[in-house]
Amino acid sequence: MLDTLIKNCTVLTMDDDKHLLKNACIGIRGGKIVYLSETPCGEESKRTIDGTGKNAMPGLVNTHSHAAMALMRGYADDYNLQTWLYDYIFPVEAKLTGDDIYLGMQLAMAEMLSTGTVSMTDMYMHLPSMAQSVQDAGLYGNLSNAAMAFDPAAYDYVTDKVTKQNLEVLERFHGADDGRIRLDASVHAEYTSFPGLWEKLSSFARENRLNMHIHLSETEKEHRECIEKYGKTPAAVLAEHGVFDVRTTAAHCVWVSDEDIDLLREKNVTVAHNPVSNLKLGSGVAPIAKMLERGVRVSLGTDGVCSNNNHDLFEEIKLAALLQKGFSGDPRQIPAYQALYMATRAGAYAQGREDSIGQLAPGYDASLILIDTARPNLQPVHHPASTLAYSAHGSDVCLTMVRGRVLYENGVFSTIDLERVYHGLSSVMDRLFRA
Ligand SMILES: [Zn+2]
Repeated sequence: MLDTLIKNCTVLTMDDDKHLLKNACIGIRGGKIVYLSETPCGEESKRTIDGTGKNAMPGLVNTHSHAAMALMRGYADDYNLQTWLYDYIFPVEAKLTGDDIYLGMQLAMAEMLSTGTVSMTDMYMHLPSMAQSVQDAGLYGNLSNAAMAFDPAAYDYVTDKVTKQNLEVLERFHGADDGRIRLDASVHAEYTSFPGLWEKLSSFARENRLNMHIHLSETEKEHRECIEKYGKTPAAVLAEHGVFDVRTTAAHCVWVSDEDIDLLREKNVTVAHNPVSNLKLGSGVAPIAKMLERGVRVSLGTDGVCSNNNHDLFEEIKLAALLQKGFSGDPRQIPAYQALYMATRAGAYAQGREDSIGQLAPGYDASLILIDTARPNLQPVHHPASTLAYSAHGSDVCLTMVRGRVLYENGVFSTIDLERVYHGLSSVMDRLFRA
């Protein structure tokens, strides 16, 4: 007996052979895909979903977010990164409590689920509250606390709040629910810390076999000032201090040099490309076509919604492809399938989840989305990959499943009480933004 059987759907598997199945059946049991074929499945199932007119694909992976910043959606638009961060974001962040973080993440995860994202690599603060929130909502999370300190003389790794929270989450949540929740180590960025901190966090990651998450060469100013300070690029100086010695996700990489790109490939770093955020903050366009050509893995992220202003990865998929075509004058750059690959397989690898998510195949987790193509913006469907990469919006997702569990279906969430989230928002706005 299956738990769920999805019948008659078109399946973009994203597997190594790029299988596209028509009128296919997906059989799910114990949270895993146990049957996937165009041949009808004879087994009985507790629930059967009619997939007629629907496309199934792997759930999307958002490899760079600050989910709880959903609280600040639309709060500080149209500033450059430095002004935005120091004059608007840091002052609000100083007021955030663990409960605020939990609330902001619930809001963000509701949006992610309703637009097809099943897994996030999230860097922020109040890490235990982040972990509790993801535990409750049912998504996968690679969660980290952004280590940041400006004065080496005043920094004590052992007593630092980030260290204490990292150790708490390592103990209480890391590996929870069969690895659904993972702790990553994080250095916020080169320009918000110093070599002593980088070395401590790198050792922590190595000793506990954690991934690393960092912002890298996001702005021209950051990149130039690092060279003035250290005589080296951010990538070079961070590599020298061991930051890339574990599986690393480096967000942005807009201003990296050719040597940096080679270094990222040698260190097997995944570049999390955030085209909407980079454009909105006026940071530039990351040379991802060049990176891919040189063998660097590129995944996608939304960044926080205060610089986006949503978590819809379908926007990032389309924009990632269009920007490279537009800037190079070569429309063959980043074809539709490659853009979808960045949002699925590449993201799964970046998170260390390449054996469980990112593609649909027997043995993989049943973590998938259904897109209803019976909509004017999606008809007719000549090539499903083109439809999904260039025509679909996150709002075309009608069902999001994680490990066989339906977390979102046609506007209804099974793990998040949206009314409660909205009520919570109205009660924190004055304290955070008007006090
Ligand atoms: Zn970021």
